Amino acid sequence: MKPTYSVIVPIYNEIDCIDELYARMTAVMDKMSEPWELVLVDDGSSDGSTERMEALAQQDPRIRAVFFARNFGHQIAVTAGMDHAMGQAVIIIDADLQDPPEVIPELINRWKEGYEVVYAVREVREGETWFKKATASLFYSFIFKITDVKIPKNTGDFRLLDRKALDVLNSMREKDRYLRGMSAWVGFKQIGIPYHRDARYAGTTKYPLKKMIKLAWNAITGFSYVPLQAATYLGFIVAGISILLIPVVIIVRLVSGSELLGQATTLISTLFIGGVQLICLGILGEYLGRIYDEVKNRPLYITRSVTRTLYDDPAAIQNSDEPSE
Ligand code: UDP
Ligand code: MG
Repeated sequence: MKPTYSVIVPIYNEIDCIDELYARMTAVMDKMSEPWELVLVDDGSSDGSTERMEALAQQDPRIRAVFFARNFGHQIAVTAGMDHAMGQAVIIIDADLQDPPEVIPELINRWKEGYEVVYAVREVREGETWFKKATASLFYSFIFKITDVKIPKNTGDFRLLDRKALDVLNSMREKDRYLRGMSAWVGFKQIGIPYHRDARYAGTTKYPLKKMIKLAWNAITGFSYVPLQAATYLGFIVAGISILLIPVVIIVRLVSGSELLGQATTLISTLFIGGVQLICLGILGEYLGRIYDEVKNRPLYITRSVTRTLYDDPAAIQNSDEPSE
């Protein structure tokens, strides 16, 4: 037997959220008439989440717990969940209950209508700083402008994917992952549904500014060449301005008889062009580093262990004492 639904939850130090998540998730999913599984991915937690997940997986055979060897980051944890999910429809959701599990039946209804990717759109965001909301909103508009793939604004990873879309995504093994972009890229029948994003149930955000910037860079470099092209345009603009300035300097000299005054001007223009060149080099570096990561071709993640569920075929597992179904 295979589950119809797989719910994937990445977990990084969420000890205070796990029990509530499990309770609310089972309340919602048990109302569905089809079988379901819960894929919990432990992204190298150190606050006891790992032990709690182990206990839950032992107690409920519908839970598969995947344990990472260290922290690999949210997008990779979700990827591992996608690799291990067996369902026909897969739902990705955060552990902190900012995305209410009660919205999942709405996603499922759309799937039953024939949509293959159903993403949840944040209408209201609660419990987040104005800084996070402002930078997020700026970023979504920016990425929408510079990419050919139309990545829906104000969507996170909270979404449902049909098996067809999931199989394609699972075959895309790029190292720097921006899953919401990738799932827009695959196409299929997609639809967004609005929802109210709550405040975190407990704990603090596991996405500090540094991780947010990394995700933003992954989104930009993974889906656009615009920064590289910007270097070319910037070059033309600066070169153009300096050519235009030559006759200006000559005319000023001839008309007023005075030279453009010395060192400060030279210094400023040198520093300016130096800065522009370093920025362009940096942009090149961002792409180059990503190419280097791809070439090294290391595995996306390392699992310490994976627990079994009632959906596993006992015959396929060696040394198993369990009776077959
Ligand atoms: N998360 C993870 N690995 C990380 C950081 C976060 O698996 O390195 C998980 C985290 O446990 C949560 C989800 O990703 O389930 C979203 O993280 P968070 O709620 O902290 O992000 P925010 O909602 O503040 O953007
Ligand atoms: Mg959150």
